[in-house]
Amino acid sequence: MATPNDPVPPKKPIPPGGKPPAPGAKPPSAGAKPQAGAGAKPPAPGAKPQAIQGKPVAKPTVAANKAGNGKPLAKPAKKIGGGKAAPVGGKRRFGQVLVDLGFCDEDQLWEVLEEAKNTAQPVGQVAVARGLINEEQLLQALGEQHGLKVVNLQEAKPSPEVLQLVPETMASVYKVVPISFKDKVLTIAIGDPNNLAAIDDLRNLLNINEVQAQLATPQAISDTLTRIYAGKEESIIDIITEIENNPELGKRRAETSIDLEDMMEMANEAPVRKLINMVFLLGIKDHASDIHFEPFEDEYKMRYRCDGVLYEMVPPPRHLANAISSRIKVMSNLDIAERRLPQDGRIELNVGGNPVDMRVSILPTMFGESVVIRVLDRTVVSLDLNKVGIPVEMLAEFRQLIAKPNGIILVTGPTGAGKTTTLYSALNELNVISDKIITTEDPVEYDIDGIVQCQINHEIDLTFASALRSILRQDPDKILVGEIRDLETAQIAVQASLTGHIVFSTLHTNDAPSAITRLRDMGLEPYLITATIEGIMAQRLVRKICEDCRTEFEPSAEMLMELGLRPEEVRGKKFYYGRGCDRCNNTGHRGRTGIYELVIINDDLRDMISSGSSTDDLRAACLRNGMVGLRESGLRAIYNGVTTIEEVVRETVLDDEA
Ligand SMILES: [Zn+2]
Repeated sequence: MATPNDPVPPKKPIPPGGKPPAPGAKPPSAGAKPQAGAGAKPPAPGAKPQAIQGKPVAKPTVAANKAGNGKPLAKPAKKIGGGKAAPVGGKRRFGQVLVDLGFCDEDQLWEVLEEAKNTAQPVGQVAVARGLINEEQLLQALGEQHGLKVVNLQEAKPSPEVLQLVPETMASVYKVVPISFKDKVLTIAIGDPNNLAAIDDLRNLLNINEVQAQLATPQAISDTLTRIYAGKEESIIDIITEIENNPELGKRRAETSIDLEDMMEMANEAPVRKLINMVFLLGIKDHASDIHFEPFEDEYKMRYRCDGVLYEMVPPPRHLANAISSRIKVMSNLDIAERRLPQDGRIELNVGGNPVDMRVSILPTMFGESVVIRVLDRTVVSLDLNKVGIPVEMLAEFRQLIAKPNGIILVTGPTGAGKTTTLYSALNELNVISDKIITTEDPVEYDIDGIVQCQINHEIDLTFASALRSILRQDPDKILVGEIRDLETAQIAVQASLTGHIVFSTLHTNDAPSAITRLRDMGLEPYLITATIEGIMAQRLVRKICEDCRTEFEPSAEMLMELGLRPEEVRGKKFYYGRGCDRCNNTGHRGRTGIYELVIINDDLRDMISSGSSTDDLRAACLRNGMVGLRESGLRAIYNGVTTIEEVVRETVLDDEA
């Protein structure tokens, strides 16, 4: 598993401000958001939050990682189901297998099944807990049921060839142990007999026709991985060195024109495949939200975005740019001959039994194709309202809001503020069989079982407005409109609300009260706003302090001033920052959480909306009515040790003096 040679943070953070890319070569998403390199630095002028009483704040500026031989990654906490034994296809039921093997009789089985049903536990686990079978027999029964040979990994000695074929990153991400590679057949051990999708992925990633699976316990898999890969981890640097020394790949350095066959050939070269596999798997393992491949005049960059911040990885040789983008195109079923037009595609992987959806966007630039891959890993986003960081009292109010039979509920904030996650989590909670939920989104990010989701397509004029109009003819109860951008969409949303539907949507405004003025500015009549809007939530995402290196400190008067606080106001309050440790790649941060403000529209506010009150007046009234503003929510998150002063200042600086 992870050791000091682990390549994982071959990432070094972008220096503040970053080197400006060559003109015209800027990829779309890198430009969309200010590069939060040295992310903790707030843009406030004169701000100097870097040094906390002389101690440097741990920021993603990990000097030690610049060489690419950074700190080990934390082991992924995800676990794959061990004793799950769902009846699939023509397979025998697990209970029947237990009886057939003579591990228990019918009566005992009935008791086990009863308990499994009542406690919602897998049958195998219950049988073990009741002492009917031991772990070994459980494995034997699972193997029997799924037609898989059970392997004893203690005796396994994988050959150097098979370890070379299946690198450590791949084995640990997929939780498989490579056993042998003979006659073009790869034999692996898996811990979850239902995780056959992993086998398909390996076949595709490694370009191997036959992969045979054997069964072992998840514990044995993890122990064996640690043993067999000790000291053998391959880093991105190793692969890049290998590529640079490869005469076949090296000699194309002087390429002027490339023909299709050459490109196809290069895309399929083993080292290129290996590099892309490694980059993807590391991205998934590190919970990156986006992976960027960026061609500039003299270099080719690879960057990850984790928790909203871009990190640079060791750059591959510039001359491989075409091979890399071609390989990604092949994987996402795009046209590799088309190099002048943008293309969109997707790659689906199955990691640890969970689907990971990768949305590929290819943009031709001055120096080649810029490729950006959005990683949508459902296991990272739990879509659970309890987990998005809404404070308990506010959550109770929000739940009352979303349970209303009709009206419009808005979530506001800039791009990347987590609005979609909040709304998906709300829908997830409202998703019951007796209600029909339809969404129209751009793009559909996660498919939720039981919800009808419609993707916007501007090319054929399928806009939010036109989709929404059709949705109303589909007999919905609850509707999600990805965003209200124009009067037409706003009007249809209002119409939907007035005809007895609840409508969820988002607006790009900095705070909740501004949403009212935005709708008014779009041209929506105030009486329609008061008749339909029930509540508005504004939100931001802040990086959480790493729990393993959280440290208390005394902020300077200067830092407090940035939050608009006087030292006497914070007497007795505690402040924390992350010192930086292995678990957080020395960034001091791990994961993100939301900070929120919620406005419930009451009669007082309705009167003000009707009489055309300004945003400032509306805001003052909201605060009078007990609204906890974004900045205040941020302060609470700071005092609770969840986040840092810098994060809150950066994310709420626009609301200052609002
Ligand atoms: Zn840490």
